[in-house]
Amino acid sequence: AAPAAGNFIRQIVVADRAVGKHGGRVKTRFPPEPNGYLHLGHAKSICLNFGIAAEFGGNCNLRFDDTNPAKEDIEYVDAIQADVRWLGFDWDSLHHASDYFEILYVCAEKLIRHGKAFVCDLSADEVREYRGTLTEPGRNSPWRERSVEENLDLFRRMRAGEFADGARTLRAKIDMASGNINLRDPALYRIRKVTHQNTGDAWPIYPMYDYAHCVSDAVEGITHSLCTLEFEDHRPLYDWCLDQLDLPNMAEIVEPMRRAGLGGAASRPQQIEFARGNLDYTVMSKRKLMALVAEGLVDGWDDPRMPTLAGVRRRGFPPAAIRAFWDRAGVTKQNSVIEFSVLEGCVREVLDASAPRRMAVLDPLKLVITNLDAAHDEAIEFANHPKNADFGTRRVPFSRELWIERDDFFEVPPKGFHRLVPGGEVRLRGVGIVRCTDVVKNADGSIAAVNCTLDTDTRTGMPGADRKVKGTIHWVSAKHAVAAEVRLYERLFTTADPDDTSDGKTYADHINRSAKRVVQAWIEPAAAAAQREHGLQFERLGYFVADLRDHTDAKPVFNRTVTLRDSYAK
Ligand code: ATP
Ligand code: MG
Ligand code: MG
Repeated sequence: AAPAAGNFIRQIVVADRAVGKHGGRVKTRFPPEPNGYLHLGHAKSICLNFGIAAEFGGNCNLRFDDTNPAKEDIEYVDAIQADVRWLGFDWDSLHHASDYFEILYVCAEKLIRHGKAFVCDLSADEVREYRGTLTEPGRNSPWRERSVEENLDLFRRMRAGEFADGARTLRAKIDMASGNINLRDPALYRIRKVTHQNTGDAWPIYPMYDYAHCVSDAVEGITHSLCTLEFEDHRPLYDWCLDQLDLPNMAEIVEPMRRAGLGGAASRPQQIEFARGNLDYTVMSKRKLMALVAEGLVDGWDDPRMPTLAGVRRRGFPPAAIRAFWDRAGVTKQNSVIEFSVLEGCVREVLDASAPRRMAVLDPLKLVITNLDAAHDEAIEFANHPKNADFGTRRVPFSRELWIERDDFFEVPPKGFHRLVPGGEVRLRGVGIVRCTDVVKNADGSIAAVNCTLDTDTRTGMPGADRKVKGTIHWVSAKHAVAAEVRLYERLFTTADPDDTSDGKTYADHINRSAKRVVQAWIEPAAAAAQREHGLQFERLGYFVADLRDHTDAKPVFNRTVTLRDSYAK
């Protein structure tokens, strides 16, 4: 793999290795919460974590950050693994933060024994009231000075399930006057009698994210814990927990670590924050994406209009294009929004090189070549790729009656139109030049067909083959063509920043309800034979992918991945 752009995280790793920090090792993790499908923003974190580890000979774990039982589901656990693999990465080992519940519990008792944590009986509302504000210090909880014995007893009873949800919490004893609100005696554990997707009903108490995350990193031997900027203010708590616990010297976690399949080599990880990746014309929060699915505004998490990895996969975005996109976007501490069209540019670049060319007609108009026999049946050899002979050739059936695109013919052409008009000439791709002799009308006056004559002297290999006409159009042979369902997708949102609520509207108000259009198309047989998920260029139309669920060679279904040019460009 090409080295990651010289971003600041890479520079930190280089500097750490130069002084032998972490023994020169690099170990990262990608820690999704299994409460939804991964989206393009997650791909930035995946590319960064796996990319940095690979570049420095280290490795990356996949860890399900599953400490919040209410919103998590095994469906997401499975989908996340499939999506990371699809993006082209493989983890060193797979873990669940919930695998560490025992270790986390043992560590919490250590904090209690050292007078660094206490059981608090304040309600959630009271905690909020005691917490203070940005400008005012908080007040100590009346339960803060409980004895170690009482705290241990209460915490053990919390674990035993003796108390109701929300009745008590375990809180770190840090500093209620801290300028950083995250250090004002933050909760470490809460009571939550909910079945967990991994641990079932084993635990009535669940660790809070900040506490669970730093300990999980340490027990997995993570060296560089990369996270997004909103955790910058949480870093002092991350460090505080690890300082208090001194995990490498905790004999009591060696056995639980062994049982969790960990070597027992606790590291001292460092948290480094970077800016989230954002794209215009889309939303990238699992909560909002979940709402689109729940409200039926899209056809599921893998709807090709969705910015989920499952969605863009079905849309036909190659994983290499997503990796290239985030690599070029770079990694910084400045929040920014990247134009979706930049990603589409990466998609075109990859597909231009990888997609075989085929012919398809999306809006068919009959063209009859009157100087050919009704029985004429020919197979014309076409290159599969104009720039790469390795793609080989195929034979495209050709006959007297063809389908062409309706908008490649005009009776009264708009200005500058260079394709077929009555009495005019156009080149049929790979065939030769035809002249339109007359137009056949339906009873209602609409066009039923255009009759043409083929100038056989202009066919490939004939003396007139080089004769110039302004336009070239594609076609498929009517009697050989296969009927296909083609789904044409546009952007899901009508505004560049659907998250902007300053005008009183929410993202739901900006949904483009005609972002999906389905047409019946005619495609050449070689296109129908495409494998599912195979990307093709339909000449002059765009890049399309054989739908990963619905496509068969008998009933082809294609999704438009992207048009050939940026139709949104100003
Ligand atoms: P969401 O708000 O969409 O639920 P999240 O951050 O809560 O996102 P997690 O499952 O916790 O989702 O994310 C897993 C990892 O991916 C985290 O380390 C998180 O920081 C990172 N991540 C999430 N969104 C982005 C993004 N837009 N850009 C870069 N990294 C991201
Ligand atoms: Mg999160
Ligand atoms: Mg979230």
